[in-house]
Amino acid sequence: MTKAELNKYKQVLETKLRELSHAVRDREGIVIEKSPDALDEVQHAAERELAIRNLDRESQLLRNVRAALRRIDEGAYGVCVHCDEDINPKRLNAVPWTPYCITCQELADKSREDNSEMFEELMVA
Ligand SMILES: [Zn+2]
Repeated sequence: MTKAELNKYKQVLETKLRELSHAVRDREGIVIEKSPDALDEVQHAAERELAIRNLDRESQLLRNVRAALRRIDEGAYGVCVHCDEDINPKRLNAVPWTPYCITCQELADKSREDNSEMFEELMVA
């Protein structure tokens, strides 16, 4: 990968990182919000649950974006963390924070369906 390409991905990732940092901070506000009105509790519980789920997803994505930026600094970007093969540039353009090549992503998706936790920490949101 050329330096210009790396810089392009780095910019995309840094933009995404900023977006997500804001989103996660905003959601934390929702999650801890408490209603003094008991009648609102059910509604709020549902909203909180949704917010927590989104927060989980965004936190996971945030971790992936940070890890990708780290791989750029380490000169390991664009290589699958699971099998060490180059990740297809089309895939990197679509999902620049992905740690996996398409083959390993399919394995990870499959293992998620099977409820295996093997890939959980590295999963792409
Ligand atoms: Zn792979």
